Amino acid sequence: MAAPAAPAFGFRLEARSGAARAGTFSTPHGPVETPTFMPVGTHGAVKAMTPDQVRATGAQMILANTYHLALRPGEALVRKLGGLHRFMQWSGPILTDSGGFQVFSLPGKELSDHGVRFRNEVDGTTMELTPERSIEIQNALGADVIMAFDECTPWPASEALAATGVRRTLDWIERCVRAHARPDDQALFGIVQGSVYPELRERCAAALVALDLPGYAIGGVSVGEGHELLCRVTEHAAPLLPEQKPRYLMGVGLPEDLVAAIGYGIDLFDCVIPTRYARSASVFTARGRIRLTNRRYRRDAYPIDTSCGCSACRGGFSRAYLHHLFAANEILSAILCSIHNVHFYESLVASARRAILAGRFDDWRTEFLVGYGAAGAAED
Ligand SMILES: [Zn+2]
Repeated sequence: MAAPAAPAFGFRLEARSGAARAGTFSTPHGPVETPTFMPVGTHGAVKAMTPDQVRATGAQMILANTYHLALRPGEALVRKLGGLHRFMQWSGPILTDSGGFQVFSLPGKELSDHGVRFRNEVDGTTMELTPERSIEIQNALGADVIMAFDECTPWPASEALAATGVRRTLDWIERCVRAHARPDDQALFGIVQGSVYPELRERCAAALVALDLPGYAIGGVSVGEGHELLCRVTEHAAPLLPEQKPRYLMGVGLPEDLVAAIGYGIDLFDCVIPTRYARSASVFTARGRIRLTNRRYRRDAYPIDTSCGCSACRGGFSRAYLHHLFAANEILSAILCSIHNVHFYESLVASARRAILAGRFDDWRTEFLVGYGAAGAAED
C-alpha cells in the first residue's frame, strides 16, 4: 500500500478558543490559514467570477468537481494542458471532490460494492465510477487535496442503510489509498460517514484515523437534515478526528452553520450557497440576508452592505442599481453579487479566526449572531 502521508502537507494548530481552532494548512500551492471557506468552481470556474476576483475576496483555496470535469472536458485534456491549476489559472491550493456525491444523486444509478454505474448526462453512454477510477481522475487533474470515493448516505437513512454505507466507505478507502499514485504532492482525505448514528460515526472515524491520512472530512451532512441535526452530528464527529490534522465539513452551508461548526472545531468549508444565492439576488449582510429583487430596494441608494469592503460595495454600486440589473437580466448582477457574497463568507471565517487567536470565539459568535439576526427572518 502506498504511504498515505504526504510530506508537502502539514497542519499547524496555532490557537484554540473552546473547541474552535485556528491553524495553518501547508500545501504545495501555498499555505491556507484556517478556518477557511472554499468557493466552489464546479466546472473549473467559480461561477461569474475571474480568479483575480475570487482571490480579492480573501479566498485562499477553491474546490472543483471531479464528476463534472471528468465528463467535460475530460481529465486527460486537463492533464495535457498542465493540470487544473494552469487550466483554470488558479495558482493557489485546489481541492477536488471524489465525484461520489454527484453520481449518488443521479436517477437510475446502480450501486454495488465495486462502484456506481450511471448514465453519462453529456453523451448518454453508461459509465462507472469506482474508488480506483475516482483517484485516477483526481491524480490527472492534480489538485492539492483529493477526496476519498465514499458512499454518501442519503438522508433520512435507516441505521442498516447507514451501516452499509460505512462498510463500503471503509472498503473503498483502502482501495483509494492503493490506487493513489501521487501521495507526495496530493493529500488524500478520508471521509467519515455514518449518518446521524453516533456509533457508526465512531466506528468509521476510528478506522480512518488508523490509516494516518493527511486530513479528514465529515461527509453525509448538509443533505437536508437541517441545522439542529447538522450541529449534533458535527459536535459529535469533530473530536473523533486527530488534533493535528485538518478537519473539513463537506458542503456546509449557511453563515449560521459555519459559525456553529467552527465552534465544534472544523477548519475547512465549501458550499455553492454564496455564488448560487448571488445569482438569484439573495445577498448576505451583517444584519441578515436580503433579496435585491424586492421592490423596497428599487430606489435604495445604499450599497448591499455599508460595512462591507468588497469591490461591489466599495465601488459605489447601489441596491437600486443592482435591483435594476436583475430586472434587466444583466450578467453584471451575478458578477457583483457573487463578489459580495463570497467576500462575506471569507470575511466571516477571517473574523472568526481573529477571534480564536484572541481567545474570544464565544463572545464573537454571540456578537455575530445577534447582529445577523437583527433584521429578523431572511427575505426569501
Ligand atoms: Zn460587499
